[in-house]
Amino acid sequence: GLEIRLASRPKGWPTLDNFDVVEVDAPEPGDGQLLVRNVVMSVDPYMRGRMNAGKSYVPPFEVGKALQGGAVGEVVAGEAEGISTGDFVLHDLGWRDYAVVDATRAVKVDPQAAPLNAYLYVLGMPGMTAYVGLVDVAKQEEGDVVFVSGAAGAVGSLVGQLAKLRGAAKVIGSAGSAEKVRFLTEEAGFDAAFNYHDGPVVEQLRAAAPDGIDVYFDNVGGEHLEAAIDVLNDFGRVAECGMISQYNNAEPQPGPSNLFKIVSKRLRLEGFIVSDRAHLKEQFFTEVGGYLRDGKIRYRETVVEGLRNAPEAFLGMLRGENTGKMLVKIA
Ligand code: NDP
Repeated sequence: GLEIRLASRPKGWPTLDNFDVVEVDAPEPGDGQLLVRNVVMSVDPYMRGRMNAGKSYVPPFEVGKALQGGAVGEVVAGEAEGISTGDFVLHDLGWRDYAVVDATRAVKVDPQAAPLNAYLYVLGMPGMTAYVGLVDVAKQEEGDVVFVSGAAGAVGSLVGQLAKLRGAAKVIGSAGSAEKVRFLTEEAGFDAAFNYHDGPVVEQLRAAAPDGIDVYFDNVGGEHLEAAIDVLNDFGRVAECGMISQYNNAEPQPGPSNLFKIVSKRLRLEGFIVSDRAHLKEQFFTEVGGYLRDGKIRYRETVVEGLRNAPEAFLGMLRGENTGKMLVKIA
């Protein structure tokens, strides 16, 4: 099988040269391990951070070693409590055809209950991120006006829909193309959306939210954050989920110029990492699983075929080529 390794660390935007596609022998599972043939894997923005050296909330990828990330695969050898050959598991060793996974790090998933892709999207890490950011961090309330950036992506598209389902008065999204804006307003039920390339974010946001916003779910940072701080109402809440507009900067950029408004408007901005909120998993599965079963959530996937195209899928996601979740179909 193949595995994809980090060839070198990018400075600024990554390129295909930062990746190596290598043919390797099928690994052997040891005691307490499973041999998993990967079926589908996720490419996510946080992986860009792991390509850098230095301490963060997850360790950096190692140069010369296979990358890692969320994947679902079929157990082809090995046994563990409650898991046997033929079962499907969610685990963290994507970027390879065959993974040897410690059974304690594998979560059995039910392909009958939901398509395998859903465990990397609506019912997986991005869905959980949208849910905890909105409910536990921003503490969205009925009647709030909610703005989300990166709105046509995996997390953002779910944030907007969950906000509506939980009683938002109005949901506004921003995204990077007219086609994405159409998806948001015509399919995903957003009340308003704009293309941030069409003009200053602050002007477009003000036009969409003449009475201000109460919650900002930030996936983008930079100009979007500055605009949101301008348009937030008193006591507004910001869930700081990500700042993808900054991840490929070779040098740090100047921050928002209007931070005093955090004081004058008594705003609350709070960063979070989804894995810290695992205690909300049952609540998330119950509520969002219910919406999904009842057909209340619209979602799109952008699926790239073939493990060897995973680096291109990752770069494409950073460039905005996905609507909904970017996934790589391996087998
Ligand atoms: P997406 O599916 O949203 O894909 C990334 C999107 O970012 C692209 O499709 C692109 O869409 C947009 N984008 C890229 N560059 C820019 C830019 N300069 N300005 C504005 N938008 C840009 O990814 P995810 O849903 O997986 O992740 C969304 C955010 O959530 C990221 O910031 C990520 O780091 C964060 N995250 C945080 C977690 C946490 O625990 N805190 C967990 C998971 C994700 P477009 O065409 O609109 O530009």
